[in-house]
Amino acid sequence: MAVSMLDVIRTKRFGRALNDEQIDSFIGGYSAGTIPDEQAAALLMAIVFQGMEPRETTRWTAAMIRSGIRLDLSGLDRPTVDKHSTGGVGDKTSLPLCPLVAACGAAVPQMSGRGLGHTGGTLDKLASIPGWRAELSPDGVRRQLAEVGAVITATDADMVPADRRLYALRDVTGTVASIPLIASSIMSKKIAEGTGALVLDVKVGSGAFLPEVEQARELAVTMVSLGEANGVRTAALLTDMDVPLGFTAGNALEVAESVEVLAGDGPADVVELTLTLARTMLELVGLGGTDPADALTDGRAMDVWRRMIRAQGGDPDAPLPRARHVEEVMATADGVLRRMDALHVGQAAWRLGAGRARKEDPVSPSAGVVWHHRPGDRVRRGDVLFELHTDDTERIHPARLALEGAVELGDEPAPPRPLILERIG
Ligand code: URA
Repeated sequence: MAVSMLDVIRTKRFGRALNDEQIDSFIGGYSAGTIPDEQAAALLMAIVFQGMEPRETTRWTAAMIRSGIRLDLSGLDRPTVDKHSTGGVGDKTSLPLCPLVAACGAAVPQMSGRGLGHTGGTLDKLASIPGWRAELSPDGVRRQLAEVGAVITATDADMVPADRRLYALRDVTGTVASIPLIASSIMSKKIAEGTGALVLDVKVGSGAFLPEVEQARELAVTMVSLGEANGVRTAALLTDMDVPLGFTAGNALEVAESVEVLAGDGPADVVELTLTLARTMLELVGLGGTDPADALTDGRAMDVWRRMIRAQGGDPDAPLPRARHVEEVMATADGVLRRMDALHVGQAAWRLGAGRARKEDPVSPSAGVVWHHRPGDRVRRGDVLFELHTDDTERIHPARLALEGAVELGDEPAPPRPLILERIG
């Protein structure tokens, strides 16, 4: 008997579990365009309120993967491992990490989306490099992995088309915030890209998608079990995103900071997170004996970076775009910087033009925020706290407003916060 969508919606509305046939029929029908948006939206809202059991989430994810192609990377002569971050402010780690792990002997097939809201997107950052292009065919991905070992590209249009439709609908119906829906959306795309192993960087704190540690942990546990159920060796790190990473948020600004890391230098927190993620990735694919720190200092990671950028049409030596206007924000009192809030900084970068509000909006490659101090530093009245970079002076005032309350000064430093909070899997 055909599955009735009304029954599916009612089942979930009354808090009961959906059976396999109901899930398959919903994902298949919605991807094929035979289930209207209003019914899909009603079901999504019921899921937001009632949740899904692990069995339902696993089946939902499998149905999403089946809606499109799954890349086969088994022909490569090295193990594949990827990283996914739930998104943070100033989090440029994907840029040095991908060539670093490739320099240590694994292949990294990183498929990514564009940034939305106050967190930057990896593709937007790389697109600030003159000539670089995100789009590659599945054959192009395989070729680059075989030749360079590292690729960062846009998710292929034929991969998990169900997610593209569902995510767009969730975005406009207030149904993004559901752990089973987020987990299945992220993991279906990662599993379809064909990676053999995956490390998840699940952010916790004010700048994170899910600021509370309990929710972040639940998301991490759900994603790790979805990966393992689909044959992808998966581990998750919960990491701090209360303070922005490094000293820059904005596309070209973050590329420049990533190149510093690849040159064996760069901000200590970005280096620590990059190395911790690299070690976890290498361990998952049996290359745990290699120390990635060596590949940063001896130039091997930088070599792979340059080849990776060139392979996608970019010029790693070209000057990066710079904003036409730079304004400074000064400290209004003496004191010790106790806190710098990631969400405020992310929103300021976004208002300067570094991020987008809707997925079709353009982003500015040169816009963003640079900060000169980190928690624990002593500052004096009149010291520069932030630089605001933009091509459009009208954006300066909204960015200044976003930064109000971004820093807390006091007499004593706040207790230091660990960057790596917990590992799952
Ligand atoms: N990122 C995704 O890819 N999907 C979600 O549902 C949320 C964040």
